[in-house]
Amino acid sequence: MSDLNPMPLPDLTDEERATYEWQMWVPGFGELGQRKLKRASVLVSRIGGVGGLVAYQLAAAGVGRLVLAHAGNVKPSDLNRQLLMTHDQVGKPRIDSAVRRLRELNPRLQIRGVAENVHPGNARALVEDVDLVVDCAPLFEERFAMNDAAVQLRKPMVECAMYDMEAQITTIVPGQTPCLRCLHPEAPRTWTRQFPVFGAVSGVVACLAAVEAIKMLTGIGQPLTGRILKCDLRNMNFFSLQISRRADCPTCMVQSQESSDSPPSNCHSDSISDA
Ligand SMILES: [Zn+2]
Repeated sequence: MSDLNPMPLPDLTDEERATYEWQMWVPGFGELGQRKLKRASVLVSRIGGVGGLVAYQLAAAGVGRLVLAHAGNVKPSDLNRQLLMTHDQVGKPRIDSAVRRLRELNPRLQIRGVAENVHPGNARALVEDVDLVVDCAPLFEERFAMNDAAVQLRKPMVECAMYDMEAQITTIVPGQTPCLRCLHPEAPRTWTRQFPVFGAVSGVVACLAAVEAIKMLTGIGQPLTGRILKCDLRNMNFFSLQISRRADCPTCMVQSQESSDSPPSNCHSDSISDA
């Protein structure tokens, strides 16, 4: 299995070996997989009901560096699902609460907290800073900005969405799989900023996204590339669909014209099936 990240793998300390002992027993992962996670950096766009738990799972798993982007202050209505937020932080910046909670869990973790939501003006710089993106933003403007930056920079992106008791997730590998604009050429007109949600539902898609990120960063398993997993949690039906690139997708067309000879992404791509 080839490893496309040019940076040397860091060694683990005795404390890290003790902390991650149980997951290093996972077949195919081992100490080599743990060292790959330690080397890795991940951007999580929004750290609410989905992204907060993505960040928590990646911090617990020993990803070396997280970049977190989320504006605004903690509100009482965040607390049914945004597990990095606490009552004592209501009225204070979300990003501060998140960084504190993650450092309590994993003091070795490097964290860059950005008190902004992703937008076309900052997406590229944020994506450039990491190996992989997990998109957990609720609004299509943010999701399109992240998608376009990830495709342009050839960084893999785990794309999560949920509404009510339904969730869906796919993993985008630029140049190989459909991107978000292949799936949604325009923002759905019915999409709204506020939506019905249980924390347990947003947490399901978050944990799936964290598993996808770990797989992409370490090369284990078969990622959700060229497929979208749909989860109907009201009836407990899970199924995946094959998805295809759109020949007229403006994001994918620009990427293939601009970067045909640019360096590959920092993640494994050898286990990826084309759509
Ligand atoms: Zn596309």
